[in-house]
Amino acid sequence: MENLRVLELYSGIGGMHFALKESGIPAQVVAAVDINTTANQIYRHNFPGTPLWNKTIEGLTLDDFNKLSFDMILMSPPCQPFTRIGLQGDIADPRTKSFLYLLDLLPRLCRLPRFILMENVKGFESSSARERLVKTLMKCGYTFQELMVSPTSVGIPNSRLRYFLMAKISAENACTQISSKNFEAFLHPAESDSAEQPTVLSPPHPDACQPEKEMQGCHVLFKLETAMDAERKMNQNSDLSVRQIQDFLEPKMEVNMEHYLLPPKTLLRYALILDIVRPACRRSVCFTKGYGRYVEGTGSVLQCCMETEMESVFRGLDQYSEEEKLQRLLKLKLRYFTPREVANLMGFPQSFSFPEQIHTKQQYRVLGNSLNVVVVARLLQLLVS
Ligand code: SAH
Repeated sequence: MENLRVLELYSGIGGMHFALKESGIPAQVVAAVDINTTANQIYRHNFPGTPLWNKTIEGLTLDDFNKLSFDMILMSPPCQPFTRIGLQGDIADPRTKSFLYLLDLLPRLCRLPRFILMENVKGFESSSARERLVKTLMKCGYTFQELMVSPTSVGIPNSRLRYFLMAKISAENACTQISSKNFEAFLHPAESDSAEQPTVLSPPHPDACQPEKEMQGCHVLFKLETAMDAERKMNQNSDLSVRQIQDFLEPKMEVNMEHYLLPPKTLLRYALILDIVRPACRRSVCFTKGYGRYVEGTGSVLQCCMETEMESVFRGLDQYSEEEKLQRLLKLKLRYFTPREVANLMGFPQSFSFPEQIHTKQQYRVLGNSLNVVVVARLLQLLVS
């Protein structure tokens, strides 16, 4: 195959570019576009040879796009307008403007790209933006497939259920429907029991964006965990097709423990809602951009002392004084995953690195906005095959 010319939009730290390399598809990124200067510094550090435009997408003209003469678009448009916790501004949200601009532009290109891969959050599949995207693709003669995929499907112990759309231009006389058989083979059968079931969405699955089951009325075990949560975690931890967390950790000697241990204030305030994993676990929750700054729902923390049983620490914890509580919690030696470890769990290769001036909190922030590289690499292989 000849080298594909790839346009990477909303390029961030280059998750798509890493995925493209990982996929082994002969390709070159002819331009990457993003307005975030921190993300751009990191992108440049990792891909010094790629033209990176520090511009808004809506600031680019039809002519700019035509000149690039690209065969593939890779993009992850801003997801805030579509998140379940956000206000779901959808197409009314100003952050969707550049995406709508792209949809308007696509049919007017001199030459349509052969492939498009797009990533977004769970929630996008039921948005008006998705409807407009689908309409535009059909108008332009693309066949496409939509999927919800989590990294556990590729054996990575991290949940990050995301919406993906893959589109291929139809050959004139042939029906080049992307074979759904391929996708079924890719989707992980063991996932079907988990809360994050990857769903082939074409047409959209009616249950695809149901919020996780509410906790009200469920009996709470130790910690703020219901029997159902505990069972789900146990099932995840016994799924041998998913690797263990320890495979993704930095060597102990290289982690500055003091730097990553949860401070006493955080332990006392948030102990009950922490998602705690051990190196032998085969699960962790999604790392978001607030990891390391906020606690609730931003990502798992790691228990480093294996001699202490979590249950013995948490049972009856509220009966103790603050000082005793703290002493008990400290026994677990809970720490944050380092940015390198988060990058590992997001499928970034060892060659990925941060420039020195980017501090830890910024590293978590940009990683939280990025994507799972291995998942996208697999999808790209399927799209192009
Ligand atoms: N896939 C990327 C992250 C995408 S997050 C990665 O691997 O890191 C969305 C990105 O879109 C952010 O980096 C944000 O700076 C950028 N962005 C948002 N609106 C934009 C616009 N109008 N023009 C260009 N970039 C934009």
